[in-house]
Amino acid sequence: MNHSTKGCVGFLGLGVMGREMARNLAQAGFLVRAYDVVAAAVTPLTAFGVEVAATLADATRDADIVISMLPDTPQVEEVVRGEAGLLQAPPRGKLYVDMSTIAPEATRKMCADLAAIGVTMLDAPVSGGPVGAKNASLTIMVGGEAEGVSRAEPYLRAMGTTLNHVGQSGAGQTVKLCNQLICGINIQAICEALALARAYDIDLSQMREVLLGGSAASWMLDKLGTSMIEGDTSAGFRIDLMMKDLRLVLEAAQKRPVPLPATALVASQYLDAQAHGEGRHGNQALFKVYDRMTGRDLTANQPG
Ligand code: NAD
Repeated sequence: MNHSTKGCVGFLGLGVMGREMARNLAQAGFLVRAYDVVAAAVTPLTAFGVEVAATLADATRDADIVISMLPDTPQVEEVVRGEAGLLQAPPRGKLYVDMSTIAPEATRKMCADLAAIGVTMLDAPVSGGPVGAKNASLTIMVGGEAEGVSRAEPYLRAMGTTLNHVGQSGAGQTVKLCNQLICGINIQAICEALALARAYDIDLSQMREVLLGGSAASWMLDKLGTSMIEGDTSAGFRIDLMMKDLRLVLEAAQKRPVPLPATALVASQYLDAQAHGEGRHGNQALFKVYDRMTGRDLTANQPG
């Protein structure tokens, strides 16, 4: 068996984000055994020394740390509570870090159940998207026991540049949901500004430059504003994922309860986009909802 002196990672979920994160771990010298329900997702990573695990248990059994990057709460529940899951077959290192964006409450329950059999679970969702994943420059928000955070830190540092321990189990997910709430509403605000400016024949590219120099500047306007002006719908962070996150935000808000009227409104607009078959577009493509509402096309009517 191949052993790394740095540690062995069982990595679960080799999608848009996970494949880059697993590659960075392998390139940082960790031994990575990767498992995805779609076996073909792992194959390209063998070029970077990542081992293909045929089953979940093959990836997790001998791992010092198990890391998951899965779509949503049910998939993480499956990895924890399923037939060959971590509750049935705990990893050797008794440390599990879920980096997906999922429900904080479900996270707390899984953390408590795993703690009962001696396994530490951390929630460590990320911000920074596929580019951040590729460049190992993710912002990572960690919830859970400090002892687990210390043990996980060398692995997390191979994937991100900003690492913050924000509280107990579930706190990382709550902070991530706040991040998504701000991102969604910010995109909506940019869509509205572009729709209004276009109706008054303003040069949208020049307006973006002007606004980036003032108090309306934002990451979204900087990184996604040009795509919105040019009508580029490519993903990026997909509308389906944004809608999933906004649903998690609203569910968490209802439990306490916290009224979030602006989030509820922007969630309706993302639902409109999904209903028009745009779920696989990048989340900046919310502008198409505004195209429909204004009866105009953002890409038309630009000064020559
Ligand atoms: P993705 O759909 O591209 O990848 C998920 C992968 O998990 C897929 O390859 C899928 O086959 C695999 N999978 C599903 N169920 C599984 C299971 N039970 N066991 C093993 N593998 C399984 O999604 P993504 O874009 O990589 O996002 C992953 C998570 O990261 C999501 O929670 C998302 O919200 C979050 N996130 C994504 C981005 C982004 O820009 N894409 C940014 C920040 C956070």
